[in-house]
Amino acid sequence: SEEAERITDIGPPHYSKFLPPVVKDNYGKWKYHEILEPGILRHVAESGDEIFSIRVASPRILTTLQARDLAEISDKYCEGFMRFTSRHNFEFLVSDKSKLEPLKAELAQRGIPKGGTGHSITNIVHTQGWIHCHTPAIDASGVVKAVMDDLFEYFGSHQLPAQLRISLACCLNMCGAVHCSDIAILGVHRTPPHIAHDKLRHLCEIPTTIASCPTGAIRPHPDKSIKSVVVNEERCMYCGNCYTMCPAMPLFDAEKGGVALLVGGKVSNAVNPPMFSRLAVPYIPNNPPRWPETVQAIRKIVIKYAEGANKWERVGEWIQRIGWEKFFEVCDIPFTFQHIDDYRWAYDTYRTSMHFKF
Ligand code: SF4
Ligand code: SF4
Repeated sequence: SEEAERITDIGPPHYSKFLPPVVKDNYGKWKYHEILEPGILRHVAESGDEIFSIRVASPRILTTLQARDLAEISDKYCEGFMRFTSRHNFEFLVSDKSKLEPLKAELAQRGIPKGGTGHSITNIVHTQGWIHCHTPAIDASGVVKAVMDDLFEYFGSHQLPAQLRISLACCLNMCGAVHCSDIAILGVHRTPPHIAHDKLRHLCEIPTTIASCPTGAIRPHPDKSIKSVVVNEERCMYCGNCYTMCPAMPLFDAEKGGVALLVGGKVSNAVNPPMFSRLAVPYIPNNPPRWPETVQAIRKIVIKYAEGANKWERVGEWIQRIGWEKFFEVCDIPFTFQHIDDYRWAYDTYRTSMHFKF
């Protein structure tokens, strides 16, 4: 039996068990794919077999009821086969072409929006935010929800010059793809950890706390009777590693933490090689629950890109063509000394980048 074949009960079952039969039959032999309309893809195999995917938006965090609804629709039209994409979209995998139009009609009737393909803005890749991680400077889900609500018109349409990928990472550890996205939302800390000396001596092991710092910024407190540590602020790079070890050294500061925007990165090798994102807006204060300043700044970049870029140009390619100076000018973003990395500073400090320059 399947149970007897199991080697371990750790980890998920093998993915091949979840492939639709047409994908299994043509595994490794898919010839091409095309986008039929926003949100609908057709993959064609060498054998002539085909499969259709309808990509729809998901709110990323699903309720049980939403998950049941999606499963119910998949049972009805896709023999139960469906998938989540790496950008938290949801795809219905339709092997029977006759079911495509009825599925589209049901999605429209249920108000489930399709899109996220081709020249669109698809769902935002993001990290964990205030609820799930300990070192964020900003929230993740909240910012993403506000930004994507505002840009929703670009999800179900192909009106942009090329695909536009947005990502968010809530601290510089960058669990999100902010280093290589067309527009990246990055949480930045601008102060070293706060040390609660009275708590530290009860909560933390001083040697492990000192050892946790990658830059050697933490030292034993010079007054041995205090039994705590001190941070050499000029060496601290606001990474939060010490807080992982020692809960008496929180990094978050409601007044100082905030959003930076980076632009022009991409992973794709098409036309030009992959590109890194670069700093556009050094700092926007945290403003929950809807982050209006962040939303407006991103919308402005999107609109100027949509107006100014040639067809197929990604954001970074558009900026390269018009020049960074022009980019700052058309997007009405002030160019400040925070935009200049000065690596001469690296001789005696780690502080070469913008979040140390406030
Ligand atoms: Fe945590 Fe930073 Fe990753 Fe956000 S980006 S989940 S704060 S480590
Ligand atoms: Fe060291 Fe990072 Fe803590 Fe700063 S935040 S003291 S660099 S571990």
